[in-house]
Amino acid sequence: MVIALFGPRVGLALALVLSAALLSASVPSATAAGRLGDPVFPALGNTGYRALDHDLSFEYRPGSRTVDATAVITTLLSRTLAHLELDSLGLDVHAVRVDGRPARFATHGEKLTVTPARPLRRGATARLTVEYTADPRAALPHTGWVPTPDGFAVAGQPASAHTVFPCNDHPSDKARFTVAVTAPDALLGVANGELTQTERLGDGRTTRHYVSREPMATELVQVSVGDYTVRERTGPRGLPLRDVVPTARLAELTPALDLTADQLHWAEQHLGPFPFESYGILPANTDDPAAFGFTGLETQTLTLYKPGFLRQAEPAIGSHMMHELVHSWFGDSVSPATWADLWLNEGHADYYGLLYRYERGWPDAWGHTTLVDRMRMLYGLGDQWRHDAGPVASPTADNLFDSQRYTGGALVLFALREKVGAATFDRIERTFLREHRYGNATTRDYVRTASEVSGQDLRGFLDDWLYGRRTPPMPGHPDWTVAPVGAVPAAGERAAGPGAQEASGTI
Ligand SMILES: [Zn+2]
Repeated sequence: MVIALFGPRVGLALALVLSAALLSASVPSATAAGRLGDPVFPALGNTGYRALDHDLSFEYRPGSRTVDATAVITTLLSRTLAHLELDSLGLDVHAVRVDGRPARFATHGEKLTVTPARPLRRGATARLTVEYTADPRAALPHTGWVPTPDGFAVAGQPASAHTVFPCNDHPSDKARFTVAVTAPDALLGVANGELTQTERLGDGRTTRHYVSREPMATELVQVSVGDYTVRERTGPRGLPLRDVVPTARLAELTPALDLTADQLHWAEQHLGPFPFESYGILPANTDDPAAFGFTGLETQTLTLYKPGFLRQAEPAIGSHMMHELVHSWFGDSVSPATWADLWLNEGHADYYGLLYRYERGWPDAWGHTTLVDRMRMLYGLGDQWRHDAGPVASPTADNLFDSQRYTGGALVLFALREKVGAATFDRIERTFLREHRYGNATTRDYVRTASEVSGQDLRGFLDDWLYGRRTPPMPGHPDWTVAPVGAVPAAGERAAGPGAQEASGTI
């Protein structure tokens, strides 16, 4: 994701903290399956089970602009539970069944508690069916819905997928997804993955069925309905490319969409084969700046964008498009184990986005034309950023999407590359991606891979960079200096650059 500063996500984070506090006060612990203990969003997710499969059905009602939906979630019980909890907010739940039998249910805070007739046994699978209605335009403390004049799109990251469908809403619980979207024939329903069936219902509605071949985190689900044109073509190595474009915006957005194939080629040279069955871009059909608080979001195989951003010329957008594309490897294929590991997503996405910028000869917002010059500037801000937003790998809910996780993370990767050399750094990256493909990774996992591949114990070195309160020396650059705290504006890099409005450093 690249997020606008001071956008609604800041409020979202605070709301989650508040709701976590309210929840812990209101839920008797005896009935709760327990929380996963995410260091950033402690109320998110549930224990006692894992999701194996999500079979989601959405029907858009254009008259009311609401969505009728059914979520069928197959779970594997890791302990015997009398009650099972799902994350859920703003969903008007009509009925719940467990293995086909009606179950009692209750909502409290951001949880849906399901009580089956008999306890669910450890080691068994249980199929939960939840029928509900949702309003994409509902005012909620936070939301994953992006309402548009002709339908909706979804932006669940980091902690709002459960406003779209009930789920164990944590990136560590990746699962299979199939999605069916029913819409009036004049509109088009889309989702992540591959279209497997188009079903004309004969009454003015069409249902389209999609399968995601690889596991997916709940925050990366995309479902959208709108007046869309689908652009299909072939990318590097025959990879299917699929853009889903608001029909009225197709002509003006085509130049940007045509950049994808070359970007994919470049990314594959650095990171290896693209990990999914297809790639494409979904420009949301809204120019409302309040519709969602970021420029792009890496929903798996189908990146959501603000259309206005993509209307610009390539030097203004290419680096950011690379950032979102790189998330297919760092974020989607290898997902963070907790939200404290977000720098693994954003640091890598910014690192390669910047590398692409300078390689293509596009000066950044500060006029730098090389990665070294940009990193030297960032290095000087290091202590201030650690003071303002904490160390790179120690975010809180209210500074999660700060630049420290983005270019701050890229600076850590640059330091590692300077320490071990470019060839070893590349081997670390590819090994890490291979070892954790389609799964999750922690910051510790990255440090372990870096040590193993380089043949050096890098724990002390990387711990200082990731968790230290002071900026460590930069290998190979003994002349680089760090400004004392208070000597640079509190907003750091953002305040220094002309028109710099994004947490990402790809500008
Ligand atoms: Zn990002």
